[in-house]
Amino acid sequence: MSETENHFFSDVCQFFDHAAQFTQHDAGLLDQIKSCNSVYRFRFPIRKGNGFEVIDAWRVEHSHHQSPTKGGIRYSEMVNEDEVMALAALMTYKCAIVNVPFGGAKGGIKINPKNYSVQDLENITRRYTVELIKKNFIGPSIDVPAPDYGSGEREMGWIADTYATMNPGQGDALGCVTGKPIALHGIAGRREATGRGVAIATRECVSVAEDMKKIGLMPGISGKRVIVQGLGNVGFYSAKFLAEFGALIVGICEFEGAIYNEGGLDVNTVFEHRKATGSILGYPLATKEFKNTMEGLEQPCDILVPAALENQITADNIHRIQAKIITEGANGPTSPEAEAVFTARGGMIIPDMYANAGGVTVSYFEWLKNLSHVSFGRINRRFEETASLNLVNMVEGITGVALTPMQRSTIVKGASELELVNSGLEDTMIRS
Ligand code: GLU
Repeated sequence: MSETENHFFSDVCQFFDHAAQFTQHDAGLLDQIKSCNSVYRFRFPIRKGNGFEVIDAWRVEHSHHQSPTKGGIRYSEMVNEDEVMALAALMTYKCAIVNVPFGGAKGGIKINPKNYSVQDLENITRRYTVELIKKNFIGPSIDVPAPDYGSGEREMGWIADTYATMNPGQGDALGCVTGKPIALHGIAGRREATGRGVAIATRECVSVAEDMKKIGLMPGISGKRVIVQGLGNVGFYSAKFLAEFGALIVGICEFEGAIYNEGGLDVNTVFEHRKATGSILGYPLATKEFKNTMEGLEQPCDILVPAALENQITADNIHRIQAKIITEGANGPTSPEAEAVFTARGGMIIPDMYANAGGVTVSYFEWLKNLSHVSFGRINRRFEETASLNLVNMVEGITGVALTPMQRSTIVKGASELELVNSGLEDTMIRS
């Protein structure tokens, strides 16, 4: 995966300008919407061995039209200011599309997490948080980070703990970050949310018969051949839920190479194989494998789901892509030039800012849960219990027959937090 050559933000602006031409808004206003409001670049030292190392980091708040601003923190050796600005802008548009009341933001820490011990990563994450606190770039009603490429629940737990420790007595402190472990006031279903959203978005789009007719595919997700790039959080769950919905995962690509089987691959066993051997290659049930991961994207399929990094499908390889649909699980995986070529030849792109909005949607649920200090499952059960106890009484009153304990408990059983989160996500993706 190559380093983005500092044109990602201008690519995002190009997509914005394309859409803006269909509106009547004033040019100055459009310019304001497009610009990054605050770009904070900082450097801080950490102890490494017997010496020190200086770490480069960023937090960009793209739009303050809603508070707080929201977006993940990327831990990557390749992260740069242009990339963080582009990703922050995408967050603004993404939140607007799914009607989640946040402005867009993004953070970056320029390290390869694989080169650091857990202790180093904790030091880096806590120090990064302190730097954000010092400049008022984090807080439940200011700016709320989340996981992104290279970070996860563990890092979010460190951020929450650092923020809460430095803001004693602030009752809402845990709403300063989302994507936390469930034991630290995270929410059920957040880990899977982005991939689940990608799968729902794809399923919904392929069910529109007229669109499918135009691109020459049968409507419906069942049996659609899918290639997924990336076996990280987004790629893994996208593949898992697409398979659950009836699609056939024929190809999986990771940075070390790609594997293919036109009869289908089981994502769980591929994941286990990679965990055990350190590589996707050598998976015994693959019929083809490619050392060059990009070759994996070019194999026969109906739907390609790039779910790794930006700038993967460009003018260089779009002519070899065989998919008719690209679902953008990653942010910005298709360049504007590639998109123009692909759509001109009748291909359909399900854009990142809708396709991968499931993550921030469930982050919103987590933030609401932290601010209100309740578990949704508990509210729901309580509510159901009250409403359904009335129902039980009514049924018994009318019939004069006492219900069995089993009948009573079926009526009063409320949904769990996970069921509520998943149905909230399903609803958001379908309505958007
Ligand atoms: N990093 C994720 C994204 O790009 C999640 C952001 C969030 O939950 O705030 O959408």
